[in-house]
Amino acid sequence: MTLADPRSVVAAKRDGLMLHASDIQDFIKGYADGTVSDQLATAFLMAAFIRGLSPEETLALTRAMVESGDTVSFGALEAPKVDKHSTGGVADGVTLIFAPLAASMGMAVAKLSGRGLGHTGGTLDKLESIPGLRTDLDPGQIERQVSKVGCAVAAQSPSLVPADGKLYALRDATATVESIPLIAASVMSKKLAVQTDLILLDVKAGSGAFMKTPEAAAALARACLDLAAGWGRSCIARVTDMSQPLGDAIGNSLDIIETIEILKGERTGRLRDLAVSFAARAARELLDLDPDEADRRAEAALADGSALERFRGMVKAQGGEERVVDDPAAVLPQAPVVEPLIARASGTVASLDAEAIGRASVFLGAGRMKKGDPIDPAVGIVMRTKIGDAIEEGQQLGQIHARSASEASEAAARVLGAITQVDGAVSPPPLVHEEVRSGP
Ligand code: URA
Repeated sequence: MTLADPRSVVAAKRDGLMLHASDIQDFIKGYADGTVSDQLATAFLMAAFIRGLSPEETLALTRAMVESGDTVSFGALEAPKVDKHSTGGVADGVTLIFAPLAASMGMAVAKLSGRGLGHTGGTLDKLESIPGLRTDLDPGQIERQVSKVGCAVAAQSPSLVPADGKLYALRDATATVESIPLIAASVMSKKLAVQTDLILLDVKAGSGAFMKTPEAAAALARACLDLAAGWGRSCIARVTDMSQPLGDAIGNSLDIIETIEILKGERTGRLRDLAVSFAARAARELLDLDPDEADRRAEAALADGSALERFRGMVKAQGGEERVVDDPAAVLPQAPVVEPLIARASGTVASLDAEAIGRASVFLGAGRMKKGDPIDPAVGIVMRTKIGDAIEEGQQLGQIHARSASEASEAAARVLGAITQVDGAVSPPPLVHEEVRSGP
């Protein structure tokens, strides 16, 4: 480390000074190898959160995170390679559907995902609710699995972007998540460490997202696109709606059940529509299809069961109990208490506080309160109500899956308190607000 004392990096950022790329590099390297402490890294994150990072500093941070580990490339693999990432939301299981769906359409999907962060769920936590399933794949395993099955969803690990793994958990525990440069560097470090032909970003906007407005989400999208452009990588970002939970399941096992139902063609709705539209968007770009043909192929891969079989292949390749596909309820952990969620009043749903609903799920144990907490894969919320629905007092809106009756009733009160109802009609929000892109 060229810095005599890493505290000088924190002090410089605290005082609003611009950091040199090499200082950021050394600091992050030190944090990844343990010579910079959690306390000092927390102080750095908070200084960066409050003072911001310039595009050059964000690029240096991203580069340092990528260089903290190995990278994944696919040598001889012929299929066009796509990666997709969400900036985080509630009931956002798009990746779990997108990865096998795009693979079944002839694309190769290699994806490094995250764990739950703040009130948002994490794809890795959801996948790991399948008994036996491992996400700590090394670069060689990812390459082999993608060549064989067409898709892999893996974690940052000691060999892959380890600095993001550590910083991500620290941010979750220290109220330093909702920062555009920190999110952009975290997301893009995981995307740039894997050599793909296209990066698709799902940048969430609304009450359940870190960016609460489409304008703030568009700024995050641009920060991510700038990083992709700095690397010469092709990237499309869509700002999508997160003003309500996207799917119905907010938990871990519960999300896997919803994924399997969608892959079996048993369920429609906004989660399915968004996953299909991302797969079709990738196919337009990488398979050179016109929009109608891309949509048709995505729908066909769901209807003929080929996406479901890819999901089975991915679960099996990662050591998971593949019977989950045939009988999820028999394989996945179940909560001891399941209480109905009953509407308190009649009226049209005008808004939903998706962050409060996500926090209710964390309260039940589906997410972490502090760094390293275990999560409970069985608990969570199923809520079928969306903005624009007319509901009646006494109607069942879903269920609470909990460890105890008292936790179930506390979570139900929080969820019901997150619903605003009015008289008269309300239009549902658009699914996609806008699309922006960068590329060589
Ligand atoms: N997803 C990530 O990978 N990182 C963030 O910081 C937020 C969402």
